[in-house]
Amino acid sequence: MKSVTGNDLVVIGGGPAGIAAAATASSLGLRVALIDERVTLGGQIFKRVGPGFDLRERKSLGKDYARGSDLIDEIDRPNVTVLTSTTVLTIEDGKVITSHAEEGIRALDYRFLIIAPGAYDRPVAFPGWTLPGVMTAGAVQTMVKTQRISPGKKIFFAGSGPLALAFSAQLIGLGAPVFRVIESAPFPSPVNALRLLSRIGGNLDLIRDAAKYRSVLLKARVPFKYGRIIVKAEGEGRLEYVTHAKADREWNPIPGTEVREACDALCVGYGFFPSHELFRLVDCAFEYDENRGGFSVIKDEWGATSVDSVFAVGDGTGVTGSYSAVAQGRLAGLQIASRLKKITEEERDSTAKPYARELRARNRFQSALNKMFDVGAGIYRLADSKTVICRCESVTRGAIDPIIDSTDDVSVVKGISRAGMGLCQGRNCQRHIAAMIADRHQKPISSVSFQTPRFPVKPVEIGAIADDSVREEKYFIT
Ligand SMILES: Cc1cc2nc3c(=O)[nH]c(=O)nc-3n(C[C@H](O)[C@H](O)[C@H](O)COP(=O)(O)OP(=O)(O)OC[C@H]3O[C@@H](n4cnc5c(N)ncnc54)[C@H](O)[C@@H]3O)c2cc1C
Repeated sequence: MKSVTGNDLVVIGGGPAGIAAAATASSLGLRVALIDERVTLGGQIFKRVGPGFDLRERKSLGKDYARGSDLIDEIDRPNVTVLTSTTVLTIEDGKVITSHAEEGIRALDYRFLIIAPGAYDRPVAFPGWTLPGVMTAGAVQTMVKTQRISPGKKIFFAGSGPLALAFSAQLIGLGAPVFRVIESAPFPSPVNALRLLSRIGGNLDLIRDAAKYRSVLLKARVPFKYGRIIVKAEGEGRLEYVTHAKADREWNPIPGTEVREACDALCVGYGFFPSHELFRLVDCAFEYDENRGGFSVIKDEWGATSVDSVFAVGDGTGVTGSYSAVAQGRLAGLQIASRLKKITEEERDSTAKPYARELRARNRFQSALNKMFDVGAGIYRLADSKTVICRCESVTRGAIDPIIDSTDDVSVVKGISRAGMGLCQGRNCQRHIAAMIADRHQKPISSVSFQTPRFPVKPVEIGAIADDSVREEKYFIT
């Protein structure tokens, strides 16, 4: 195993939060290593065009692309080592262990560690969700945005929250044939609307964006219906029909209100879950907030977690958007620089002021938005007994149901049924199983604990981590 030593700071995640942290810390003289598993930096929203693509007109890729370019330019410094195509597999004994196709396994030491792993689409299990043609909003966005490939000729969009509106409008703007959008939350109440308006300061850009997205849908005559939820997807070998229904306050479908429609693509965008595997590996303390994506790491205003020298920033701590992610990254970078005596506390505080102000404004607005799009528990009750809950191991709800009669422990369910034992390590099914347990045992979902995180946190080729000696020919299977 190779060692990469002498790092003041290792940052895991090259999205807006991680890059901003690396930029700020390196500008103050810290030696920084920035790691991302993707081929290029940028994360989800500042995603770069891939290698091999020639970019002639940067402007045509929009304002977020330009924001990303400016941020990435900031880390063009000799004291920053950028390790892309590099996956963090685990963190142990004060070292970050990574895998790279050619470089193999590397161990990076650090004085401080920032974990900025972002979020992923909230998986929603309902009958037919594993049919080809049913995709998460993030996957569809990536296909359409980066490759200009439409997932179908007639796209149904089911989801909730501000990004459901943004995603569907983006898809329509890029020429994808979306014909209907349903939002599970009810039409905003006057109380919720007033709360949002009272927190508009510092967020006018987001309101402008929302108005723009709404007008894209209106112009394209795509109906946007509040208070409806996806019920099932059907088809012979691939998606042919979706059924949706009116949702009650808890997002349970109301019987008798179902509508069945033909389509060849269903885009599912019910928000995000923070990627928290790495925080769990280092034993950070957590709290539960369904609207922030469930279990979220506890941190202070600088991003410091309960574990000394480990900081948490960006969507991996609860989705609050790219502006907030950048501000969080800057604040963590400043605090670490101050802890390493590169700046005084006074310098830290005065430089931090605009970022802290921005973060406060964004967080206030986000929490008002969260109230407006309060996630209903019905989202976990859509699956029937034949619905696959764990996709990796093909375990159905019917197989899990009898097990949770006798246990309220996700790990026991895993041990008996194999649900959560596959490649994704429970990222898709664990919460659903926790919600089933909570329902059955009449306890809050927040009290159902996680399954234990295991090395490697992300799938990796066995050749990348195997001992070299197994390459000897005598071990080869021919
Ligand atoms: C699917 C999706 C679509 C979105 N679309 C929009 C949109 O259209 N408009 C909008 O305003 N906001 C959008 N957002 C929100 C916005 O992208 C985020 O607020 C912002 O990108 C958060 O930045 P971040 O740095 O926290 O995370 P990210 O940008 O997600 O970056 C995290 C990075 O960490 C890396 N990483 C994670 N785990 C590891 C590991 N083990 N090893 C190595 N690297 C790792 C990932 O590869 C990724 O590059 C979207 C979010 C998601 C998840």
